[in-house]
Amino acid sequence: MSKTIAINAGSSSLKWQLFEMPQEEVIASGIVERIGLNDSIFTIKYGEGEKFNETLDINDHEFAVSRIFEKMIELNIIGSFDEITGAGHRVVAGGEDFKESALIDDEALAKIEALAEFAPLHNPAEAKVIRIFQKLVPGAVNVAVFDTSFHTTMPAVNYLYSIPMEYYDKYQARKYGAHGTSHRYVADRAADMLGKDIKDLKIITCHLGNGASITAVDGGKSIDTSMGFTPLAGVTMGTRAGDIDASLLPYLMEKEGLTDIKDMVDILNKKSGLLGLSGISSDMREVEESDSENAKLALEIFNNRVQKYIGSYIAAMNGVDAIVFTAGIGENGVEVREEIINGITWFGCEVDKEKNNVRGKEVVISTDDSKVKVLLIPTDEEVMIARDVEALKN
Ligand code: ADP
Repeated sequence: MSKTIAINAGSSSLKWQLFEMPQEEVIASGIVERIGLNDSIFTIKYGEGEKFNETLDINDHEFAVSRIFEKMIELNIIGSFDEITGAGHRVVAGGEDFKESALIDDEALAKIEALAEFAPLHNPAEAKVIRIFQKLVPGAVNVAVFDTSFHTTMPAVNYLYSIPMEYYDKYQARKYGAHGTSHRYVADRAADMLGKDIKDLKIITCHLGNGASITAVDGGKSIDTSMGFTPLAGVTMGTRAGDIDASLLPYLMEKEGLTDIKDMVDILNKKSGLLGLSGISSDMREVEESDSENAKLALEIFNNRVQKYIGSYIAAMNGVDAIVFTAGIGENGVEVREEIINGITWFGCEVDKEKNNVRGKEVVISTDDSKVKVLLIPTDEEVMIARDVEALKN
């Protein structure tokens, strides 16, 4: 028996789950929020529904990680650091180098750091946390699990942008996608739930959370995905614009008197999407609850963009057997799921209103005669990370 920790480090947050492996039992989990700010929030859940919370200033990731370990010992979650034999780190950008999860050695870590150009907010923080783990738990195997790996099976016809080829040749300017671990997990689960070999299935996975992406999974492989060079592209998201015409950037910059393109991209990343359209919130629940016309329109636009991606992926795969909903909105948004599928029944899918009236559990929500199966599958990126650590450790 051994314990594996799955870590998801962002620039100002760190989420983790500790598993007893190989039985995949979650023995503790936690979040550190507001790293680098005052009044950081530190939470651990463990045992039989027990919780530990504190608010203190956590200035950097090193302190966050050492605090997690200190508290795990104090709360008797582990007896000593040696019990943790594996650490799986979610890494946002793996570029073209990492086609699957990788054991971290000096070379891999240097590559992850070099890929910061593709994910400036994430990769540096993730690399930092890997180094901290190497120091604090030298006996543990460190594994990187990339958001992009699952999408490295995309063919050039889907990952290339129609821009001068030299930009791809010189700078690897192409589509990489994201949320790969989630798409991989739910596609596998969908095949299991349908009792079919994934190799025989065409699946469209809709990861609809604060960030959202749609993936076409043909025979178990991602062949196209809605996010692009970065997670900014694709469908309308909580605060991200999704696809837009690039010519809008210089036009809006001139009108708004912006001189730094980074400020414009910031607006597209942080002030657009549901938030920008509704003027109310980036949170789907608040948008749904609002009576404002703009909030209603935001909701319609959100559903519309997802429908259009589903339609285009049915075309790309020349068919579809199953459509999967996952992540915060996909798992809980009963109306969103119904609206999306009700608008595309021509493709042979129909939602069973009663079956769809559930939240957060694995269930087929299409009618018995629906040609295309529609499934709700809660995602579990952490267990996927722990599994990859286990596979590479042995
Ligand atoms: P993140 O990308 O931050 O991990 P999540 O997957 O947690 O995001 O999804 C967050 C989104 O899920 C929010 O927009 C939230 O409003 C939405 N959500 C959560 N519960 C519900 C619900 N009951 N109905 C509709 N949307 C919901």
